[in-house]
Amino acid sequence: TYSIASILDHHAVHRPDRLAVIAGPARLTYAQLAAAANQIANGLRARGIQPGDHVALSCPNIAYFPMAFFGILKAGAVVVPLNVLLKPREIAYHLNDCDAKALLCFEGLPELPMAQMAQAALQEAQLCQTFVVMPANPESPPALPGAITLAELMAGQPPTCERPPVSPFDTALMLYTSGTTGQPKGAELTHWQLILNFVHLRELLLPTVDVRIEADFKVLSTAPLFHATALIAQFGVVMYAGGTSVLLPRFDPKQTIETMIAERINSWAAVPTMYWALLNYANEHNIDVSPIAETLKVANVGAAPMPVELMRAFGEKFKTLVLEGYGMSETGVLSYNQLTKPAKPGTVGQPLMGIEIRVHDENDQPVPTGTVGEIVVRGHCVMKGYYKRPEATAEAMRNGWFHTGDLGFIDEDGYITIVDRKKDLIIRGGYNVYPREIEEVMMTHPAVSLVTVIGVPDERLGEEVKAYVVRKPGATITEDELRDWCKEQMAAYKYPRLIEFRTELPIGPTGKVLKRALREGLAQGSA
Ligand code: ATP
Ligand code: MG
Repeated sequence: TYSIASILDHHAVHRPDRLAVIAGPARLTYAQLAAAANQIANGLRARGIQPGDHVALSCPNIAYFPMAFFGILKAGAVVVPLNVLLKPREIAYHLNDCDAKALLCFEGLPELPMAQMAQAALQEAQLCQTFVVMPANPESPPALPGAITLAELMAGQPPTCERPPVSPFDTALMLYTSGTTGQPKGAELTHWQLILNFVHLRELLLPTVDVRIEADFKVLSTAPLFHATALIAQFGVVMYAGGTSVLLPRFDPKQTIETMIAERINSWAAVPTMYWALLNYANEHNIDVSPIAETLKVANVGAAPMPVELMRAFGEKFKTLVLEGYGMSETGVLSYNQLTKPAKPGTVGQPLMGIEIRVHDENDQPVPTGTVGEIVVRGHCVMKGYYKRPEATAEAMRNGWFHTGDLGFIDEDGYITIVDRKKDLIIRGGYNVYPREIEEVMMTHPAVSLVTVIGVPDERLGEEVKAYVVRKPGATITEDELRDWCKEQMAAYKYPRLIEFRTELPIGPTGKVLKRALREGLAQGSA
């Protein structure tokens, strides 16, 4: 038997007084976090939750998240984190899709009444009998018919709890994919795959210059915990290492900078759009970032393509090492640029220990070094499958390999480069055009702040290349001027014939630019 909940049990004994979580005014030691989680686990069991049951968790990055996360695991149940922005119809869909027996939901805010929306959804979720509201203000918990408060769930429950027997190959976590390319799918991740991911990632972060991850190491997570990037690559690893996880409920550049300074943050991990926003904010407001540079040893990035130019500019401004990794909901972290070796900007580094990564052609055969094809993965890191989606699972798991849907290549040193998603590839007049390559080039133009490239339908060529560009503040370049510049930089078949300026780009809840939204807008005639 093995459960990743043993992480918390271990630290509660060996480092009870160390801070596990800092979230706004809440500061929880490992002992306090364990006591809360145990009471939640006992409360869930008292309400009939059995080992293996699915329990949904809808909560932003606040102290309730780690408490409930470990509470559900200690009960032997499976955690199903839900996107906090879901509307009642979508909440009902997810609760039914994952067969949730219980839902733990943050009360929400006046502008986002999460618990009220969940209550509306529960009428359509037959299996979900236990509805626990975690109040915004514990002093005045909400009166929602059919719901109990977290305090009621925990009342009278002892602060210790024995873990029920769970197999390492049982599902610990069901993680919905971001829905960047379609409907989010629930990936079933096991205790075994998660713990190995934590172990290998911690090893990679261990030699962090002069700060050791286990000694007062503080990692700031601004990406949402309901998604793989923050939950596995940050929160999970920090908990495993016995460090301190610092949480911010919503990404805000000003608050992020203030927190980095106030808490003397050692590592920040975020998605590329957050790097972009932080750098812009610091530049526009002339922020003195030297106190951050003093403590911030390493910054990690992943989840979406990181423009090399942005990585360079950020590293220079904040005097920190930016390391890029690659992973997904289905596998956790797959590869990383490591501290002990020279990083190769633009690549996502080398595979973590025990993970096999290859590049396959259209016929599912390996391609020679340096050739672009679909990235496929094998090893302990691969999920059990998509919950209740046998066709989608069979489609992804072919010939013993998990097919990522990402295009890339591996160089002679074994470093992986993600070229693009298969679904984003543009075929213009028979030529393959990789949007990411064009984005990388355009990002180096001094007037370009952010850019995303998609293919738009074209009668003659099948598809035409279109760039949506956010200009830097004060930049006056015209669309024609920028197109002429692109023409100088890129071959005729790929430079963007169509350029449109925007003040912002559509960004999904996990911080990714939603090309799908731009394509859909186009189809509806508004893009
Ligand atoms: P869905 O599968 O629902 O369409 P999604 O693929 O965005 O959404 P996630 O599991 O959150 O869902 O994201 C994994 C994907 O993110 C990878 O398959 C890859 O396309 C992209 N990705 C992750 N890290 C990187 C990176 N460093 N560079 C480029 N792309 C990355
Ligand atoms: Mg995906």
